[in-house]
Amino acid sequence: MKIAVIGTGYVGLVTAVSLASFGHNVSCIGRNKDKIGQINQGKAPFYEPNLQSLLRSVLLRKRIYATADFHKSVAQSDISILAVGTPTIGGRIDLSEVKEASEQLGRALRHRKAYQVIVVKSTVIPMTTEEVVKPILEKSSSKKIGKELGLCMSPEFLREGNALEDALYPDRIIIGQYDVRSGETFSQLYKKLNIPFVFTNLQTAEMIKYAVNGLFATLISYSNEIARISEAVDGVDVVDVWRGVHLDRRISAGTSHYIYSGAGFGGSCLPKDTKALLGFAKKLGIETNLLKSVIDINTAQPQRLVTMLKNTIGNLKGKKIAILGLTFKPNTDDLRESASLAVVDALIKNEARVFCHDPMIPQKRQTPELVDLPITLTTNLEDALKDADGALVLTAWNEYKKLTPAFFKTHMKNPVLIDGRRIYSKAYFIDSGVAYKGIGLSTP
Ligand code: NAD
Repeated sequence: MKIAVIGTGYVGLVTAVSLASFGHNVSCIGRNKDKIGQINQGKAPFYEPNLQSLLRSVLLRKRIYATADFHKSVAQSDISILAVGTPTIGGRIDLSEVKEASEQLGRALRHRKAYQVIVVKSTVIPMTTEEVVKPILEKSSSKKIGKELGLCMSPEFLREGNALEDALYPDRIIIGQYDVRSGETFSQLYKKLNIPFVFTNLQTAEMIKYAVNGLFATLISYSNEIARISEAVDGVDVVDVWRGVHLDRRISAGTSHYIYSGAGFGGSCLPKDTKALLGFAKKLGIETNLLKSVIDINTAQPQRLVTMLKNTIGNLKGKKIAILGLTFKPNTDDLRESASLAVVDALIKNEARVFCHDPMIPQKRQTPELVDLPITLTTNLEDALKDADGALVLTAWNEYKKLTPAFFKTHMKNPVLIDGRRIYSKAYFIDSGVAYKGIGLSTP
């Protein structure tokens, strides 16, 4: 089938490359000419394991191309997939990218004679596809959904850091369909996959995505609340608590990934989607105390790490503090709403001198999240730790897991280590003379 994917971000490009590898002919529509050029040369504009090599392979097989030409690629496609951004601004979902792309899509479809299905893959609050996307498409294309055009909503569940694998081997496909023809046409895309399909209406598909992200966010905040209680009880270590919990047969290996205490959830999805769901529920007049607490716990979590540091080394003014890890999780270069940024912000407010290292963030800090921050980015760990008064580990990168107590003791002025991800052996570090503190660990 011929597919147009609108949006060349994490979801758009990964979806495009995976569909191309299934044998479809995919055009990837973007706005940024440099990015389009990079994609056509086989360079992924962001890091995701194995993405670049599969991109090159589908380019060689001429299964994919990137373009800014909406008209040509959409007009020639059987299915168009919307994968544009849906940030949350001021507690409400911002649909401006969805609206603009729907309008462009509709205009490009004006002169198309054959049937086409439009699929919303962006995460949108319930009723958006029906009440926002559908009227824009109908108006700008002068065609009727349910006649000349079909409409589906299919939420995306890929996890950054594992995105390609998730897209190539999804566990299920949710198809919110405007009508049966729309759903059946869209499902042809995945006919080679032997996995469950859930056919439902548009708004239920939209709700499924928020239910999933709300659940994972809840598990993480619950884990961090248990960590707070554990920290207040002499001798309790939350790492052992979760080890005991994960072995419960009723908890799957996949779920246990979210039942673990740390610096809090970040990234491009959980923070914005929980806030959008909260805003949506408020608009409906529904009280959502649980969701509100989930967000509050998460907002406060990074500050707890800074408090832990202050309790250990006192006033931070003028002190050199090393941050190990800026991305919201390992195996990604995504900094969006990373807990590390909140920690950095708190350290700057405390007038500390902040030195940051992350294996994925180059020294020339071009990322919008880091521009203008009074921090020093280092390309090697030694420079970040050299003569530091304290260090915080905020991303569980493998290269950090391998560090020994001797490494911290050699480079730091004072080997004070706050383990925000609990990646080190407490006994080994404490016995080796490191002042080791961590989430969910009571302070002796
Ligand atoms: P992103 O910001 O990385 O990418 C969105 C892309 O769309 C950008 O490159 C932007 O330039 C492009 N775009 C916007 N308007 C356009 C237009 N009119 N024409 C062409 N391109 C346009 O966002 P993302 O992380 O890929 O997320 C996309 C959607 O998928 C969001 O709704 C998000 O909530 C959802 N989602 C994201 C993830 C994830 O892990 N990132 C997972 C599941 C679902």
